[in-house]
Amino acid sequence: MVIDTQNIENILSDAVQPDVSLVDDILAKADAANGLSLEHAAALLSVEEPVFLQRIFKKAGEVKEKVFGKRIVLFAPLYLSNECVNNCLYCGFRKDNRDAVRKTLTIDEIIKEAKTLEGMGFKRILLVSGEDPKASGVDYLVDAVKAVYKNTGIRIVHLNAPPMEVEDFRRLKDSGVGVYQAFQETYHRPTYKTMHPSGQKKDYDYRLCVMDRAIEAGFEDVGIGALLGLYDYRYDALATIAHSQHLYERFGSHAHTISVPRLRPADGSPVSHAPFPVSDMEFKKIVAVYRLAVPCAGVVVSTRESAALRDKVIQIGASQISAGSKTEPGGYTLNKFQNSNFKFQNDRKAGWAAPTDNKPVEQFSTNDHRGLEEMIGAIAQNGFLPSLCTTCYRVGRVGADFTGMTLSGNMEKFCQANALLTLQEYVLDYAKNGVRELGAEVIAKGVEEIKETALKKEVLKKLQEIRQGKRDVYF
Ligand code: SAM
Ligand code: SF4
Repeated sequence: MVIDTQNIENILSDAVQPDVSLVDDILAKADAANGLSLEHAAALLSVEEPVFLQRIFKKAGEVKEKVFGKRIVLFAPLYLSNECVNNCLYCGFRKDNRDAVRKTLTIDEIIKEAKTLEGMGFKRILLVSGEDPKASGVDYLVDAVKAVYKNTGIRIVHLNAPPMEVEDFRRLKDSGVGVYQAFQETYHRPTYKTMHPSGQKKDYDYRLCVMDRAIEAGFEDVGIGALLGLYDYRYDALATIAHSQHLYERFGSHAHTISVPRLRPADGSPVSHAPFPVSDMEFKKIVAVYRLAVPCAGVVVSTRESAALRDKVIQIGASQISAGSKTEPGGYTLNKFQNSNFKFQNDRKAGWAAPTDNKPVEQFSTNDHRGLEEMIGAIAQNGFLPSLCTTCYRVGRVGADFTGMTLSGNMEKFCQANALLTLQEYVLDYAKNGVRELGAEVIAKGVEEIKETALKKEVLKKLQEIRQGKRDVYF
């Protein structure tokens, strides 16, 4: 069994608002950066007292720093296709969104998009696709991944795509995908059923077991998440933690990433307001509890959230964020695609008029529009270290090794050092204006903070190599 939903319900119904001594006890346990029991995670998720919440946030920030250092990893999504056979009530790509302009990028267009992201300084991208076996089946996804590696300087490609069979996962793994990501959306069966009325995605269990299949196929790093706002956040957050614990018990590695998507308005979606709204304070609590319950996971906060909130969550446990995201296929280079092969869902002979701007439908509207450079500046100004690192996936620090190294406190020094090296590359190759100077200051300070003398010496040597023109230097 992946998760025991009855157990989740029992734990939540037994959980009471913890008093100060229980909160302090739990936080003392969390300090060891070894995770939390479901009971303790449920207790923290029940906290509403602002003073206690501040203590939870503080501890989550400390645990994040212990595990990954000050670095915040940056990436960009690249939407491949908005054609979809499913009907998720909350999503702009849903099949019954008749007004949507549909688009599946050609391989050349994918390369163009990836090159545009590379031109901004990204090294890590997340390919994202709707579910349509004809438009974006596994052959297409494999070709897309291979084309990006072959034709661009993008160093790691992750994938958020529909669940599939083990054999298809093997092919994707062989093409070089780093992390395979899919969200359960909600772990609450009745809500899942309502939200996913048709298409393959209506099968709750097929989706729930997807990570077991992906790992069996060789994916050592997988990313999970619940779409906040569909059901009681305490239930979905606790079930997400239980899901990660299941993967750890079965395969020896926790979820590599836990994403924290919160419902956003989407054109053509009948769910315009979250049935179970999650406030900003609750959102921060969820981020912090994920960090404390699964310290080794990358906690990912996307541009669904506002700039102010994203600047805050990096202080309380989030470790990865996207920047400058576009959620429609072709979003980064769209004007170059005008008048190309956009497909319209309805039969034009039936008299339906296409939207005049021919813009493919976006999945949802984003909320933080800062590009990579601005994001790097903001992270640095908040006292953190922007990182474009892609090393672990490429040197085999993955799966159980990654979980083990992280939980034993041995990852932080790699993260810190590689963040400095990738920031140095960025400063030399892409940064302009104030970010160039700010980046240089952050690098100097980061080097000073390295405690091991031998490592500091090695970092200084590698920084010098980068200044002399060497690229893709890492530990
Ligand atoms: N089609 C695939 C699937 O459903 O798994 C993968 C990509 S889907 C485009 C990526 C994720 O976006 C979904 O898993 C869902 O959590 C999220 N999403 C969909 N509609 C959203 C909305 N209106 N607001 C915020 N996130 C949304
Ligand atoms: Fe399709 Fe994914 Fe959107 Fe559902 S969430 S309609 S499966 S793209």
